[in-house]
Amino acid sequence: MKHVLSASQFSREKILSLFATADRLKRERKDHGVLDYLRGKLVYLLFYEPSTRTRTSFGLAARYLGGRTDFTEAAGIFSSAAKGETLEDTIRVLQSYEIDAIVIRHKERGAAEAAARVAGIPIINAGDGDGEHPTQALLDLYTIVSNVRRDEIVVAMGGDLKHGRTVRSLCRLIIKYAADDAKFCLVFCSPPELAMRDDVLDELRAAGIPFSVTDNLSETLPACDVFYQTRVQRERFANALLGDAAFLDVQTRFALNAANVATMKPDAIILHPLPRVGEISPDVDADPRAKYFPEQTRNGLYVRMALLLTILRPDAV
Ligand code: ASP
Repeated sequence: MKHVLSASQFSREKILSLFATADRLKRERKDHGVLDYLRGKLVYLLFYEPSTRTRTSFGLAARYLGGRTDFTEAAGIFSSAAKGETLEDTIRVLQSYEIDAIVIRHKERGAAEAAARVAGIPIINAGDGDGEHPTQALLDLYTIVSNVRRDEIVVAMGGDLKHGRTVRSLCRLIIKYAADDAKFCLVFCSPPELAMRDDVLDELRAAGIPFSVTDNLSETLPACDVFYQTRVQRERFANALLGDAAFLDVQTRFALNAANVATMKPDAIILHPLPRVGEISPDVDADPRAKYFPEQTRNGLYVRMALLLTILRPDAV
């Protein structure tokens, strides 16, 4: 594995190996604190879009493995992109400084792929516009399979499925992970104007993963094993008024709260890639089925440690 660009690039075998490595590193970190695997390696964090979890957890993952990090935040303003430099040239410059990998988040779909085309070092896609967020999908699936033990897992996805990159990557990862003894069924529960795009639906059909599309939250909640809620990606709407309308709709009709979550199965789980902005009420947080704080976020650390180790020290996996 050199670059991480799309969830579609992983095989079931590779996903299982990453999850086993994440389990192992979680134990090693508990027993030994800071590890030594990436001594002498530098991971560069190149972020053109805001981030809390992905940037922090990748940075800490590198450091907890004994490596170092450097970064540019708000790279659209603070890098030469503001002077008109192309992404490709920025990558050429960064890799001349003897860094070992670049984790990139960009507002354009396909940006990580464009970076990878000119990069001699690994490029990790930390979110490319409304395209993909493959490392989020890895930590989401890791959280799902470590909590839900069923022959067929019903995963409902809610909120903004049209612009959300995390749900797109999660669908693609599920396609790769699904097997005869690990079956999945998906439910896309959103306002019709925020429905999952056809490219992903076509891929699910081709892979034989059953799915349904609905705007009925009260029917969806009792039927699912996982409810994966997402926020409305207002920054991706060309028309701000439509973004506002969709935002209000998801915050009201499609929001999770203690009352409607009470109808879910006792062993179901609730996930959210975060940030949440009203689509899960804080009165759900204390529910033991709510895994977004801290389990899902913390899994991001271990899964990203596993990814960095696999890419930069395959001999240590
Ligand atoms: N943090 C996730 C992302 O970067 C989800 C979100 O922003 O809504 O895609």
